[in-house]
Amino acid sequence: MDSQLTITSIMEHADKIHGASEIVSFTADNPEHRYSYKDAFQRTRQLANALKDLQFKRGDRIATLAWNDYRHFELYYAISCSGQICHTINPRLFPEQIEFIINHAEDKLIFTDPMFLPLLEALKSRLPTVEGYVVLTSEQNMPDCTLENVHCYETFISEHSEEFDWPSLDENTASSMCYTSGTTGNPKGVVYSHRSTVLHSLVGSLPDAMNLSGSDVIMPIVPMFHVNAWGTSYSAPLVGAKLVFPGPKMADGETLTKLINTEKVNYSLGVPTVWLALVEYLNASGNSVDSLKSVVVGGAACPLSLMHAMDKYGIYMHVGWGMTEMSPLGSYNKPMEWMKDVSEEEKDAYRVRAGRMVYGVEMKIVDDNNKALPWDGIASGLLMVKGPWVCNGYFKLEDQPALDKDGWFDTGDMASIDEYGYVVITDRVKDVIKSGGEWISSIEVENAAMAHDQVQEAAVIGVPHPKWTERPLLIVIPSEGADPDKHEIIKSLEGKIAKWWIPEDCVFVEEIPHTATGKISKKDLRERFKEYAY
Ligand code: AMP
Repeated sequence: MDSQLTITSIMEHADKIHGASEIVSFTADNPEHRYSYKDAFQRTRQLANALKDLQFKRGDRIATLAWNDYRHFELYYAISCSGQICHTINPRLFPEQIEFIINHAEDKLIFTDPMFLPLLEALKSRLPTVEGYVVLTSEQNMPDCTLENVHCYETFISEHSEEFDWPSLDENTASSMCYTSGTTGNPKGVVYSHRSTVLHSLVGSLPDAMNLSGSDVIMPIVPMFHVNAWGTSYSAPLVGAKLVFPGPKMADGETLTKLINTEKVNYSLGVPTVWLALVEYLNASGNSVDSLKSVVVGGAACPLSLMHAMDKYGIYMHVGWGMTEMSPLGSYNKPMEWMKDVSEEEKDAYRVRAGRMVYGVEMKIVDDNNKALPWDGIASGLLMVKGPWVCNGYFKLEDQPALDKDGWFDTGDMASIDEYGYVVITDRVKDVIKSGGEWISSIEVENAAMAHDQVQEAAVIGVPHPKWTERPLLIVIPSEGADPDKHEIIKSLEGKIAKWWIPEDCVFVEEIPHTATGKISKKDLRERFKEYAY
């Protein structure tokens, strides 16, 4: 039958079949909110009725500025299944970027956590398309604010019917949108469809990807404003898994540990920074997280030292690779059957890789002349992808094609792929260090440096060099209480990476800048060290 693959179908399935599964949230106004999928979708229908009264058109953008919690979950479904586009905004961006994004998307209504009201108050006179605001809280916690046409979420939905007749949507209807801030230029809007979301959720749940089922307790520590919490707000209801939302306390080791232990979380998702925070807290407090068996780490390269630190607590880290333009899943790292017999070193060599591409995603690596390179684990080139959840263009930038003439999307990542299909992300194209015409993988140098026990975080950038054009510079935050010697750190890289990749110098800093999505901001580091010369 020609059934449409819509987010509505996920919601209706979860409502009927997984109604009893729980959603537990830590929110600013309620540290222990708990209800079932049945309750969630009942409130979603009330919210849909409230939205209907405002008479939005198909495809209108309705924005959210919120952390991970149950109200944000309700918005995901009510907005998309009503035929509007749920536009999740990253509140960590600079105010000017948020202003640009809201205006570019032409958002009509903004649902916001109370803590972002000052930000919106400062921007309000420059947001001409925004007709109103809804604050995600209850009447008793509703703060005073100077915004016009502002509602309290609980009041906004409370008087509406729990029945709603969802519209029949074509599966290619736009469902949601997330802006990605590249290293240059303005942020660009990536629009997802109902179809792309459903297919991505199905494949993401497969055993060789996240392996999700109704017996899992999942805590997405990746924000719902960053590529839909890597799809978990859809894949958890699809399989009936219990969901645990940490609210604003995303990188707080103590809150995460408490939630994992009380809710028996067994699977979680986050960027390396989150896992560093968790391990640091566990080491310092002597606590453990016995139920947590595995996590996916993505968004940036994960050092082996962090994987080993997590191993000690019985948590296996799977690397996932993807990007906003890919919904985000492209590849996932699961060991293959034959690997059980190989040495620990060889297992380690595989587990840090970005994994193998999942069904649905096609990949190739190409050289500077767009010639496909072999999958031999050595050749490294620009990674190109295709697939039903890969974007084919950016919102309102139809004049700037995102695909090449053969329909491939350029990821901007450099990678090698081996005979089994394991991908190694060697660099972002813009971050590649060219030394004497040959390139150096900053990621590999960083990972090697992170293995040193006096290094808390490491970053590598290219700096000008009179002979080699560019040479790598190692930038390190020392571990707490440590007083490392830079020559000793540089020496520790010997044997771990090619000799000529070893930086000649290492500088210590108190802080390494990160982007709003948790990646090391090489752009800011290059700016900071622009006067540095070998
Ligand atoms: P975003 O669109 O913000 O999710 O960023 C996507 C980019 O993050 C990718 O193009 C990569 O450069 C980087 N990235 C994501 N996952 C990984 C990974 N496992 N290893 C290295 N880089 C990654």
